[in-house]
Amino acid sequence: MKRALTLILTTCLVTLNTYANMNTDNNPLLSPFNTAYQTTPFDLIKAEHYEPAFKIKIAEANSKIKKLISNKDNPTFQNTIVPLEKESDDISRMASILFNLNSAETSPEIQAVTQKVSPMLTQFMGKINVNSKLFKRVTEVYNNRFQSGLTEEEIRLIEITYKNMKRNGADLNLAEKKQLIQIQMKLSKLNLKFSENVLAENNNFVLNITNKEELTGLPESVIEAAALTAKTKKIEGWAITLQVPSYVPFMKYSSNRALREKLYKAYNSRGNQGNRNDNNKIIREIVNLRLEMANILGYKSYSEYVLEERMAEAPEKVMKFLTDLHNVSKPYAQKEVSEVSEFAKKSGLEDELMPWDFSFYSEKLKSQKFGFSEEMVKPYFKLENVIDGIFGLATKLYGITFKQVNNIPVYHPDVKTYEVYDENGKFLSVFYADFHPREGKKGGAWMTEYLSQSNIEGEMIRPHISICGNFTKPTESKPSLLTFNEVETFLHEFGHALHGMFANTVYPSLSGTNVYRDFVELPSQIMENWAVEIDWLKTFAVHYETGEQMPQDLVEKLIEARNFQSGYQTERQLTFGFADMAWHSVEKEFDGNTLDFEQKAIKETQLFPNIEESSISTAFSHIFAGGYAAGYYGYKWAEVLDADAFSVFKANGIFNKDVAKKFKESILEKGGTANPMELYIKFKGEEPSNKALLERSGLN
Ligand SMILES: [Zn+2]
Repeated sequence: MKRALTLILTTCLVTLNTYANMNTDNNPLLSPFNTAYQTTPFDLIKAEHYEPAFKIKIAEANSKIKKLISNKDNPTFQNTIVPLEKESDDISRMASILFNLNSAETSPEIQAVTQKVSPMLTQFMGKINVNSKLFKRVTEVYNNRFQSGLTEEEIRLIEITYKNMKRNGADLNLAEKKQLIQIQMKLSKLNLKFSENVLAENNNFVLNITNKEELTGLPESVIEAAALTAKTKKIEGWAITLQVPSYVPFMKYSSNRALREKLYKAYNSRGNQGNRNDNNKIIREIVNLRLEMANILGYKSYSEYVLEERMAEAPEKVMKFLTDLHNVSKPYAQKEVSEVSEFAKKSGLEDELMPWDFSFYSEKLKSQKFGFSEEMVKPYFKLENVIDGIFGLATKLYGITFKQVNNIPVYHPDVKTYEVYDENGKFLSVFYADFHPREGKKGGAWMTEYLSQSNIEGEMIRPHISICGNFTKPTESKPSLLTFNEVETFLHEFGHALHGMFANTVYPSLSGTNVYRDFVELPSQIMENWAVEIDWLKTFAVHYETGEQMPQDLVEKLIEARNFQSGYQTERQLTFGFADMAWHSVEKEFDGNTLDFEQKAIKETQLFPNIEESSISTAFSHIFAGGYAAGYYGYKWAEVLDADAFSVFKANGIFNKDVAKKFKESILEKGGTANPMELYIKFKGEEPSNKALLERSGLN
């Protein structure tokens, strides 16, 4: 899942100035969309249309906001908050079109215009957020919010608008505002430098193999890929790199222990080698600047600042959450490591089991234990069948139906379009599905929307939702056969899509997936639970050649293999969570040794002896270059929520319509109109507990 205004990916430096003076009369972005359901006219919009359209819309919005501020009437919800909500609407819609396209079907032209438009938007939003006069009006509306006869949703919107401005520094004095802007600018440079360093560390290391014997154990596909990498790098033989698709299989399959050790050490010392890509100093700078920023805004730590706007609420609660899980999973993890250690000994390892041995022996143990491989299930997951299965699941649960149509413009012929109808046959949403990789599409999978749901002043706008993936393509001889992991990913993104489709709020900024970041993965992750339910698999998972149903014992193997080493995996996630929390909970300037600090923070979750030079933090881009600072715990948090919520389906039947209705009405329709804990309790009747997750992972 991603949000249009926060995830801006720009990589290309090409600039195009040819359209600076373009006539705007025929700009499709500035005319009403004359398409079915007013969908985006992808066939008409060209890269050169964006910049002038953004300029015009931003200027319009700015002048309206100016008017709003100079309004002599007393500030009210209607004359202050509603116009703000409306004014950014056109701009958000154009931004979502551009940024989505930059992810799904980019080109040098789209990249160039994205790079031009992004700072314009940041500046536009930034100026609104720190405008003192506007903040004065918003504050007055905020202070009177309970006396004005407003709905709960309206009160929530006031609170969010007020909070958002305050958290951006709107009530600081001019000197503090300047200081804050300087910190933010420094931080954005440091974040970028951090990720550039990690990238350089990834790219600078190559394990060059020229002796064929050193390839022992590697599958043919890995050897082929390594030969290809060597060729592109213009070196002899085979090249193993620190990129995940090269590193992971080598650690899993290579029987050459010395090389595994070499590769492991290279991977785990990225950013910590005292060279020009060293990240230790940058970490200290980032941590201190974040602390300074939090202090200026009135918080004692950066994590306190971040978590205030999360379901988890406070650092203490996150620490308790992580510690509770750790206390349960540690003994399992230790047992799993001893099991591998024993297995390794039996397989001839004479030394102590080291971290560079773990993946190798685990893989062997796993195949011995379960006799299961990915290839065995793929024939049962033909894409067309999976689509039927997933749409069918939505029909069983919520009564909604999907009709494929050809009259909606698309940005690439691969994109499929659907009309979605609710249980009463009423139009619910437009749905785009874009399944396969191609040049110009980024990796991974995501859900996005081209138009948000809203219902301001009784004008119901139904949303336009899209999911994108990089699923296995069909070949000349075979249809698209998905891996189990791809089926889970499809379910996941489809869950986000349901959150968007069912949205039923008045104001777009509270609609659909506009919820706290540690809540947004509940609707998506809960869907993954059906992936191992035999009663659901029965509805579509048939062999693409024989038409035979997926055998029960294969499903059982799937489930068992899924929980293999779940204690170890949990401890690994917790390690990252503890490190993240430690770095962002410092309350005074940090000038110590980063490695010592990290060691102390993750001491409890370590399962192997300490390896010198090994550092997590110096390559931890999630928190030092991405949006996960004081938020890494969110992955586990969402797992607790989805397992707990799914347990209600398990108890009442996985297709139970009443449970589904309650889930839809309490959570999916409500978006961000209330505190997520309130919504969750409405559904479940109580706060979530980690019991269901522990049970599901076999940690009980
Ligand atoms: Zn997601």
